[in-house]
Amino acid sequence: MLIFRQLVDPPSSTYTYLLADSRTSEAILIDPVFEQARRDAALICELNLRLLCTLETHCHADHVTGAWMLKREFASQIAVSKACGAEGADRHLSHGDRIDFGSRHLRVRATPGHTNGCVTYVLDDDSMAFTGDCLLVRGSGRTDFQQGDPRSMYQSVHTQIFTLPQDCLLYPAHDYRGLTVTSVREERRFNPRLGGEIGEEDFIGYMSNLNLPHPRQISVAVPANLNCGRPENEDASPATPAWAPLTYTFAGIWEIQPQSLEETDGNVQVIDVREPGEFTGSLGRIKSATLIPLGELVRRMDEIDRVRPVVAVCRSGARSAQAVVILQKAGFTDVANLSGGMLRWRAEGHPVLGGNE
Ligand code: FE
Repeated sequence: MLIFRQLVDPPSSTYTYLLADSRTSEAILIDPVFEQARRDAALICELNLRLLCTLETHCHADHVTGAWMLKREFASQIAVSKACGAEGADRHLSHGDRIDFGSRHLRVRATPGHTNGCVTYVLDDDSMAFTGDCLLVRGSGRTDFQQGDPRSMYQSVHTQIFTLPQDCLLYPAHDYRGLTVTSVREERRFNPRLGGEIGEEDFIGYMSNLNLPHPRQISVAVPANLNCGRPENEDASPATPAWAPLTYTFAGIWEIQPQSLEETDGNVQVIDVREPGEFTGSLGRIKSATLIPLGELVRRMDEIDRVRPVVAVCRSGARSAQAVVILQKAGFTDVANLSGGMLRWRAEGHPVLGGNE
């Protein structure tokens, strides 16, 4: 079965696509975003996938790719089009190339126009295509910088995208209104720049008069993307907390495993956010834990040392996850949730104070 996820980076309105073969767990990621690399890595781990490769639809001007960050994490290959001119990639793709993941594959179609290195990735059965900034939902990418050319975009759309099956779903690299997907049939009929009877000269006239502002990120994003997202100072890339081995979840929470918490050996503050009756109840408590019920956390925050790391604990790990969110909002930086709460702590045989034998 095909595993498919569409992810968004809200600040740049960029879509990232995860595709995987559920039988082999082999996965690829199209257009990852630097700031979302940790989120994407968490999803890949939680779904138990093996990231083979990241793919770019083009050299982006509005965000930096997460390709290098993900390669550092998973040793995944970086694939870019040969024509985009980026350095540091493992694969340089040309029209007709094939990218395999498990028993599935994508086929590369050159679709220049937004940039001269733009490509569209088409799924093996022609049911989905990832059009980058060539064809957007009821729109198209701009053609006024980075070797953009409306004439070649018109040709790309008409010869490489509109020739796909009518029901083929089209997934763009961006949408600024939150639209997520379209189809060949819809865009051939309703695309206001390229559909219906609109001819090449009409399109060129339209595109030459868009008068768009220069992209804000272009001076940062393009040089970084020409290096596949490798930062100039590698140490400046988003750091993983060093005070304990933590796991970042797709839900957006840093977690600590029971074994790791025991190994911190009292160097962290354990805040138990259950109710008093639970704290003294049958599950028992962690010896060094301080009781601050979740409902009192905001009011009693001054009781927590802001310098030492904090681990929040509850029965199952749900209320304490909310405690982590509250503490982070209040400016605590080193905060983690005890994964599985007291239930798991006990089940794994870690020491408890009180509680039933
Ligand atoms: Fe773009």
